[in-house]
Parts: sequence; C-alpha cells; structure tokens
Amino acid sequence: MPGLVIVGAQWGDEGKGKVVDLIAEHADAVIRFQGGNNAGHTIVRGDETYKFHLIPSGILYKGKLCVVGNGVVLDPRVLNEEIDGLRKRGTDLSGLRISANAHLIMPYHLLLDHAGEARLGKREIGTTKRGIGPCYADKAARLGIRVQDLLDEKILKQKITAALEPKRQTLREFAKDPRLDLHTMTEDYLAFGHRLEPYIADTPPIAWRALDDGRLVVFEGAQGTLLDIDHGTYPFVTSSNPVAGAACVGAGVGPNAIDDAWGVSKAYCTRVGAGPFPTELHDETGARIQGAGGEFGTTTGRPRRCGWLDLVALRYAVRVNGLTGVVITKLDVLTGIDPLRAATRYTGPEGASFDDFPYHQSVLHRARGALVELPGWEDDITGARRLVDLPPAAQGYLSFVEEQLGVPIVMVSVGPGRDQIIWTDAAERVRSAPA
Ligand code: GDP
Repeated sequence: MPGLVIVGAQWGDEGKGKVVDLIAEHADAVIRFQGGNNAGHTIVRGDETYKFHLIPSGILYKGKLCVVGNGVVLDPRVLNEEIDGLRKRGTDLSGLRISANAHLIMPYHLLLDHAGEARLGKREIGTTKRGIGPCYADKAARLGIRVQDLLDEKILKQKITAALEPKRQTLREFAKDPRLDLHTMTEDYLAFGHRLEPYIADTPPIAWRALDDGRLVVFEGAQGTLLDIDHGTYPFVTSSNPVAGAACVGAGVGPNAIDDAWGVSKAYCTRVGAGPFPTELHDETGARIQGAGGEFGTTTGRPRRCGWLDLVALRYAVRVNGLTGVVITKLDVLTGIDPLRAATRYTGPEGASFDDFPYHQSVLHRARGALVELPGWEDDITGARRLVDLPPAAQGYLSFVEEQLGVPIVMVSVGPGRDQIIWTDAAERVRSAPA
C-alpha cells in the first residue's frame, strides 16, 4: 500500500485537513503537491486548534517527513510565519522538507493579483489575492523564481529584474511602492532563504525511497476537483491542478507510484467565491448548514455558499481523479434536517436533463440540481464510531451516495475532533500500512 493521493472531490474546504491528519499517522511521508497558501486546513488536537496554510499537517507527528513539493507555489514570508508559529508551540520541525524547485510568490505577484481582480470588477474570479495565480503564470512564462534561487544573491537579483521587466506597464501605478524596490526585495528574500535553508531539499527522492521500502506515502492535494484549472468550472478555478493526476507532477513520482486515490466530500456542498453551483440553497436550510458547519473560509474568513450534495459533480470527480475511495465529512451538520435532498442529475433550460457533468460553461451556469428526497435523522451522531452506530436514515444516506458513485466510502467524519471518525472496512489497507 505505498502511494495514496488525497484530493478534494468538490470545490475545496471538504475537511481534507482532518482526513490527511488521521491518515498521516500511518504514513512515512506526507507531500503537498500543488496550490499555495490559498489553502487552509484547521486541525483540532485536544484543546489546541492549528491552522495550516502550506506545511502538511502531518508535521504534528514528531519527526514525520512533511514535504512542500515542487508543484506548490510558496510565499516565503507566510511559510516563515507558519514555521515560527509552530516552533513557538513546541512542534518538532525536523521532518520538514521544502522542494528547491517550488516557485516563490513575490511581492509583485500579490500586487498583480489585487490589480487583476480590481480590473475585473463585478466579474472578479474571487481569488484569495495571495499572488498564487500570477506566480503560476510566471512559472509557465519561464519567469518564475524558485526556492533554490534564494540561496544565490546574484542569480536572485537577475531573475527578479527579468521577471519585473514585462510587468512594468501593469505595475505602473505601484512604481513608487517600496515593496517593488529591487534592493529591498532582494534583501528580504535572501533573509527568508537564509531561514528556510535547513529545510530546502531535493524532494522527489524522499518519496522514491519511502515507496521503494513499501511504506505509505500520502500525496496531499489542496482545493478541490471542481477548482482544477483544466477540469473545474473554468475560469472560476484555481491556477493549478488539484486532481489526483497532478500528484505525480507536483511531487516527482510516476503514475505507478499511486495505488489509491481518495476523494474527500462533505455530506453537502459548499463553494467560496464566484462561479456555477447547481445545488446552491438561498433559503433557511442553506443558512442553517452555513451556521452548523461553520462555513467560513480558514484563510480568508469569507462566508461559503452552501447547497445540497451534488452527486453529478461527485461522479465526475470519481472519474477525473480515478477515485478508489470516498471520504464523507461533516455528516453531523445534516442532523435535524428532514427531509434531506441530493442532486442525481441536472436540469437545464428548455427541459434538458444531464446525467453527466456538462462540459460547456453556458450550460453549467444554467444547470440546476434535480433533487431526490432522502429521510433525515434527529439523533446526535457525533459519538458514532462504527457505521452501525448511525441511525438507519444516516446509514441510508451513505449507502445512497456509495451506490450513486460506485466507489466505497472509506471514512465518515461526524465532528471536528480527531476521534469523531468512522473508518469503514474498505479503509483497512491504509490503516494496516506499516508506518
Ligand atoms: P480543509 O481545508 O478541506 O481541511 O477544510 P477546512 O479546514 O476549511 O474545514 C474544515 C473545518 O471543518 C474545520 O473547522 C474542522 O474542524 C471542521 N470539521 C472537519 N470535519 C468535520 C466534521 O465531520 N464535522 C464538523 N462539524 N466539523 C468538521
């Protein structure tokens, strides 16, 4: 059981943090393979709550190898703050490794992100304005600055100069901004590099070695399938590939390194920012789910749009990720809502019906979930630890999801706490992995 990819199966914020945290206990290494500090995980450990933006949450296990892979774009200021915060709380960081090939978010990326969204006005994408999109754009344009460049002043200065050159026009309004001063920027980034140096490494061999030894390596995705720049609801997407296939590229392993791909989905649906959302609720039920689920962004605090579980979109996620297991989180949030609903297909204008996720943007924007009703439950389920502990209606809800997706449910989360989890028999391969 060596390689397991964990991805978001919806629009992100599925509760992957807790899931990866639980699986990390059984793993030799955890590798983040894409995204930046636009992702946020909240981990509850006893009385302590940790918020992670870049470092895999597996770091909470003493000495666990936690890799920020080459596919990640990282803001060294944010990473250093995260390291400082963890150190202050006494976390052992000896397992942290940062890919020398990961790209750096620079001050001008932040400014470009703000300027870009401002220019779009009402049509804004709803980015987190952390400079992630402009950083990936520079990577593709071969103007990116990588972690390894932090260790050489001359190269760093040259690369910053080259990267700024084609942006002069767009950045004109910030011409006098001290953040864009070449000298200051170089000094700041050299200082960041100096502090990160002990963690900078050639990271793919870490995965190769662990895989060769038959140990469990977890590839951790950020955001979710429907935010994928290729397979999501473009242009309302993130600027990287959160799908399982990207684990290979963003960590430096081949497809044969991946044995399983698990998709994490809430028992309902949420979305942050703009873009189509066929099962969105604009009523009291939506507000209730938002309140009960605490649906506000970890990184930005933005309220999340809420809706019924979208099985059309989930079936699509099963296919594009090649999911071998599904994790359902936040089932407890649905307690007390009766009846429950879920979309098994979409309806479009003029009576059109879609069993499959529509590829065309205009169709998707007008698609609405065709809902089926399922019985709800009243009993508190936060103490359930086995499927049989759940009320029959909750078991029925899960069976319905499993049947619709054709993939086994491997875990069910029934509360924010670490112990509030049900592992099903289908998860046994992972749980029994030698760590
Ligand atoms: P992530 O980025 O996918 O990990 O998602 P977030 O960290 O944004 O959201 C997870 C939030 O939901 C955190 O506050 C968790 O403590 C909480 N959470 C995770 N699983 C459950 C669950 O099963 N039930 C409830 N009520 N809260 C949960």
